[in-house]
Amino acid sequence: MKLDEIYEEYNKHFSIGILPYTKCMNCGKVYYYPRDSCPVCGKGDLKIMQSTGHGTVYSYTKFNNGFYGIISFSEGFRAYMDISGNNPGIGMEVEIKFKKIKDNLLPYAELR
Ligand SMILES: [Zn+2]
Repeated sequence: MKLDEIYEEYNKHFSIGILPYTKCMNCGKVYYYPRDSCPVCGKGDLKIMQSTGHGTVYSYTKFNNGFYGIISFSEGFRAYMDISGNNPGIGMEVEIKFKKIKDNLLPYAELR
């Protein structure tokens, strides 16, 4: 799969409110950021998967008037994103929501 095809697949998932991730069909590594080959084994046999959108706060930092951090998802991958809510803490559960920025729907983590 080419990188632009992967981005297109990701945007399709975003538009229906689903968080996608990528799985390497060779070694099983899962990750969020689109790439055209596996960061572990280097193979290009990749599949776009659908996350449940459930995760926990792995780390966070205050950013402007909000929070931003790394979320660990139940499928085993991590992703950076905005965190909404007043008082995040390490290990707190989040759920993925989407917000419209210009013409794109982008995921963020909402504290549960
Ligand atoms: Zn791999």
